[in-house]
Amino acid sequence: MIKKKAILRFDSTTVEKPVTYYLIKKYDLWINILQARFEPSLGGKLVIELRGEKKQLDQAFAYLKEQNIRVDFLEEEISWDKLKCNHCGACVSICPVGALKMNRETYYLEFNYQDCVVCGYCTDACPVQAIEIIF
Ligand code: SF4
Ligand code: SF4
Repeated sequence: MIKKKAILRFDSTTVEKPVTYYLIKKYDLWINILQARFEPSLGGKLVIELRGEKKQLDQAFAYLKEQNIRVDFLEEEISWDKLKCNHCGACVSICPVGALKMNRETYYLEFNYQDCVVCGYCTDACPVQAIEIIF
């Protein structure tokens, strides 16, 4: 499961298109609308969070492009505060891609940023808020 945040921009020709309906129905995505601002018949802006499998997301973004809807991604990444971390390991089993691992010799947490898909599960699991999502 991958999570993406994006700004969808509509003009007068695309503002009436029911894109969120199609994103959910056709591509089976989980959608959270964070902000919506529309002027009927002029255009508008939708800030959404989408979750789904990579293939579904790729197909959905191709669909938006075909519909002439501009998509700007809000990039985000995980920040791990080593000083706050007490190496309890609570985040390790929750990570779906194994980006968080305990070093078996030192019993310290190791974070492989390259593997992280920014799903955000570890931020909820950490008891001391040592992991945060940053934009
Ligand atoms: S956000 Fe946390 S749980 Fe999700 S992939 Fe990255 S390290 Fe793992
Ligand atoms: S859950 Fe938090 S404190 Fe525990 S190992 Fe992970 S980052 Fe460190």
